[in-house]
Amino acid sequence: MAYSLWNDQIVEEGSITVSPEDRGYQFGDGIYEVVKVYNGQMFTAQEHIDRFYASAEKIRLVIPYTKDVLHKLLHDLIEANKLDNGHVYFQITRGTVSRNHVFPDASVPAVLTGNVKVGERSIENFQNGVKATFVEDIRWLRCDIKSLNLLGAVLAKQEASEKGCYEAILHRGDTVTECSSANVYGIKGGKLYTHPANNFILNGITRQIILKCATEIGLPVIEEAMTKGDLLKMDEVIVSSVSSEVTPVIDVDGHAIGTGAVGEWTRKLQEAFEAKLPISIKS
Ligand code: PLP
Repeated sequence: MAYSLWNDQIVEEGSITVSPEDRGYQFGDGIYEVVKVYNGQMFTAQEHIDRFYASAEKIRLVIPYTKDVLHKLLHDLIEANKLDNGHVYFQITRGTVSRNHVFPDASVPAVLTGNVKVGERSIENFQNGVKATFVEDIRWLRCDIKSLNLLGAVLAKQEASEKGCYEAILHRGDTVTECSSANVYGIKGGKLYTHPANNFILNGITRQIILKCATEIGLPVIEEAMTKGDLLKMDEVIVSSVSSEVTPVIDVDGHAIGTGAVGEWTRKLQEAFEAKLPISIKS
């Protein structure tokens, strides 16, 4: 039996009925998070919960629970589902009310839902690397908010998938921003380049860990936007997210990155990243 989060309750998955007038359903008026679970333990849960509250504040959505209560609910959800490896997804919307763009009255409660998904780490991708493709970044200008509005990301990822690629590397004009559901980095001359954490990208929790790992292994970090041409000339390219961890990109639109094989800095970053996981996992 699968269990879901329904506001502050853990309930049987099938018992949830979301109204067609839920503002998340009609406007994408809400925010979400995804937390990785390794051997039954959430990884960087507090960082994800903090970002959830920060996203909520940016869209003026009031979460009717404390961070500690939410943390406990996520823990209970994982336990109820006996989840070992996978992730927990949770979202909150601005509630259910007769359709009107204007915010509902403050008395309308937000709707919190969540569920878990079983999944193992993508070891093959980590080992061998993946292909990516450039796609124009047509998303809105507040990509720092982890909004439920994902149409720009969905269209980009679909285009990548149809081209046989793992990810879409997004660019606004010539400037590389991030990927459809990951951050992107280039390594050249012993330095790591990535777009600064501003409104054009989501400041990934994995990104924040990778930047720490880079510093630890003696790889200086330069938070500067790359052009598409810069990216193609990098020695190594990686993408990161909760599920992608440190995934090497070895080919972009048929252009080999560096030697076309996974580079040494990437391997060192992967090792440093794995060392931070809540449990020891050897790939
Ligand atoms: N950028 C975008 C657009 C994303 O959707 C995601 C994750 O879903 C990320 C970056 C990576 O964020 P995180 O490392 O917190 O998963």
